[in-house]
Amino acid sequence: MRRRAFLAATGAAVLAACSVPSGNRSTAPATTSPRATAPGTPTSSAAPPSSSAPPTPATAEEILARSTVPVLCFHQLREFRADDSAYARTIITPPAVFRAQLQALRDGGRTPIGAGTLVDHLQFGHPLPDRPVLLTFDDGSVTHHSVALPILTEFGFPAAFFPMTVVLGKTDWLSHDQLRDLDRAGMDIGAHSWDHQRVDRLSGDQWAVQLDGPRAELGEILGHPVDLLAYPHGVWSPEALPRVEAAGYRAAFQLSDPQDPAYPLLTVRRIMPPPTWDGPTLLAQLDSSF
Ligand SMILES: [Zn+2]
Repeated sequence: MRRRAFLAATGAAVLAACSVPSGNRSTAPATTSPRATAPGTPTSSAAPPSSSAPPTPATAEEILARSTVPVLCFHQLREFRADDSAYARTIITPPAVFRAQLQALRDGGRTPIGAGTLVDHLQFGHPLPDRPVLLTFDDGSVTHHSVALPILTEFGFPAAFFPMTVVLGKTDWLSHDQLRDLDRAGMDIGAHSWDHQRVDRLSGDQWAVQLDGPRAELGEILGHPVDLLAYPHGVWSPEALPRVEAAGYRAAFQLSDPQDPAYPLLTVRRIMPPPTWDGPTLLAQLDSSF
């Protein structure tokens, strides 16, 4: 179900959902010229590939053609509480369900890969394992450290985490140390704006606040550059994409809209698996949605 994002007070925590109603945003222009999305890098090179030459980025058409890897988007991983709304229960994943979904991926022959691995494949054609899948976690819930990390570690699965920076260090949200734990465990960390504003509604100094600031803050916390983004509410707009590129993001993840033909790396698609999906349903959705 794709509904308007909501804020549900749950003690000190806020559940920030990442969905958006269909038809509530403009669609990508159909007549933009194809281009590679690597900022500052040439779109083609006459030189043959060699070990010393920089890799040649793919064209937008090539990136679109390679965009067949399923990407899943999770939020909080916890038991339901009495005050969770019906919608919240579609995006909260109880730990036992999460474990069962990972087991289904394993039993189904799926191989989770890192976000950087996927982007290297899309941008440069680097090879992937058979039947890859990418797991992502939005918003920065403390359950990403307390629930997701141990289960992912048990399975040996990589994943990508996209916290809002406004919540870091607050009750029920990731601390800086927990973020560094995820990073040291081999997880990818990307930005998810400062306070979850839709990028199709930003203007003025909000671009710097929501795009530049979080990338810099996460880079400072982790001690290395951060260049991945997940759009708050999964929403993007064609007008926002040059801003995302200019802010230094290499790739950005949305939800279910078609990719932008000119910026496919900045509009990588994901789906949100509700906790009601059993293993066969999850595997079927991966095959049918990507
Ligand atoms: Zn979110």
